[in-house]
Order: sequence, then structure tokens, then C-alpha cells
Amino acid sequence: MASRVTRDRAFFAFSPRIGAAMHVRQGEEFTVETHDCFSGQLKSSSDTLDTLDWSITNPATGGVYVEGAKPGDILRVDLLEVKATGPSVMVTIPEVGALGDLITEQETTILEHSGDSVVYKGKVKVRQKPMLGVIGVAPASGEVPNSTPGDHGGNMDCTLVTTGASLYFTVGVEGALFGCGDMHAVMGDGEIVICGAETPGELRAVAQVVDLPGLPTPFLANDELVVVIASAETSDEAYKEAVHRMHRFLTGIAGLSVNDAAMLMSLVGNLVFCQVVDPLITVRFEFQKSVLAQYGFELPQG
Ligand code: CA
Ligand code: ZN
Repeated sequence: MASRVTRDRAFFAFSPRIGAAMHVRQGEEFTVETHDCFSGQLKSSSDTLDTLDWSITNPATGGVYVEGAKPGDILRVDLLEVKATGPSVMVTIPEVGALGDLITEQETTILEHSGDSVVYKGKVKVRQKPMLGVIGVAPASGEVPNSTPGDHGGNMDCTLVTTGASLYFTVGVEGALFGCGDMHAVMGDGEIVICGAETPGELRAVAQVVDLPGLPTPFLANDELVVVIASAETSDEAYKEAVHRMHRFLTGIAGLSVNDAAMLMSLVGNLVFCQVVDPLITVRFEFQKSVLAQYGFELPQG
């Protein structure tokens, strides 16, 4: 049976101190159960934020200690399956989020899961695309609350963190101490009201160290795209960092010239907001693998 870490192994800040909830070998499949971002405290529309214990919000599960992962290594985590178990919950919070100026009433809404959809207020069916809002590895030192994204990963709220994606992180501590949480059954890019369909769930994954020195992390790849993710205090800083990181990847690792990388980024690349509601803004830059293939470049498989 594959290794499993249960959702009671929750932590609330990425740090070297989260310790190992489970050890896995490189390439060994493992499963991580995740709570929703309220630790399951909101079960009906009458459960409001007034009675919420905020100290246990934004849990992540872990750490998963990957044998042989050393500080400075690049760890690739392949998301074999991101599965939302439901039901989901959404909230509005006055004065919070990109529309906080208009929101005066706190509301809790439960979204039932029906087949591969979630159902909003009994009438709007939305196809699920389960993703993990929080995913990352322990930083080399200090601690980063799970609410906050950063170079270790964390609360990036990137909709591409879904089944079939590979995430790349720079290892901060021995064993990497991977963790994840804050699953959304579905979420729009930007997460403007401060939540998606917040759901408990399960990740099935494998992790291994790969030989990609200098890779700007966090980095993501799926069947079609390579993606860099950057977080900063302002959206201006975040987008500039994201485009520079992608350019660094295209020139330093994929071998394109300065101008080819820049022109092709302008021709086929996409700059996308991941979220605008966390303590830092997160932006990603997406670039087509098919273009890299025409330069004879491929990410290492093994
Ligand atoms: Ca989040
Ligand atoms: Zn969330």
C-alpha cells in the first residue's frame, strides 16, 4: 500500500521545524490528505466567521520527507491525482478581497459536489478542476505562514496546480519537507473574493530530485506549458519578477538568445494573475513547450 499522511498531521507555517510526518523514497507514490482552509469548521450556511477559530485556518499537511533530497537540490513533485472529496465552502468577508469595498455582509455558502461538478446555491453547476492553493517545501530557515506565498511555494493559489502538473521547488532542508493544503474543487484565476470552492481532498504524488541547476522556482510544467510563479508585495513587482524568471529560464536553461526569448515570450507567452488577495500578490508566466521543442529543448524526464 502506498504511503499516506493523514490530515491530522497539519502545520500552519512552512519551516524546518514542521518535521517529518512520513518518509518516502524518490519515485515512491504517496498520498497526502488535506483539510479545507477552515479545517472543516464551516459545515453549513449558519456557521459564520464570528465563531471561527482563526488559529487553525490555512492548514497544510506534511511534511513529507523525501529520502536523499538535499538543500539546493531541485525537487520535482508530480501530481498524479488531485482529488476533491467535498463538500466545498465559500465565504464573503466584509472589506476583504478585491471587492471588499462593496461587501458588507459575511456569508457562508456550502457547495455540494455532484459527479464531477460543484453546485452553487442549488442551481449553478460548475465543472470541478481540483487544485491545491498551498503547496511547497520548508524554507532553509525561518518560517512562512501558510497564508503567504513565496519562493518556497506556499499559498500561491495557482489554478494550474492540478492533476498532471509537475511542481519544482528548491530544497531548503534535508528531505525537503513537502506539504500541501487549501484545495479548491474549482477556482477562477485571481481568487478575487479570497476563496475558491474550499474543499477537503487528497493528493497522490511522487517526488524526485532532478538535475536542473539554476531553475527559477517555484516552477511548474504540464503537458503544454512551462510556468514560473512569482509573488511580491505589489502586482507590478510580481509581474516583473515573473517575466524575468521566465526569461532567465529560456536563456539560461533552454538556450534561447536574449532577443529570441523576449520576442517569443511576447508572441506566445501569457502573463496571468494567480491571486490578488493573499499577503503577497502571485503572478505566473506561461510559455509553450511546443516552441521549446522546436529549439530541441525538453525538460529531463527521469
Ligand atoms: Ca489560498
Ligand atoms: Zn483556499
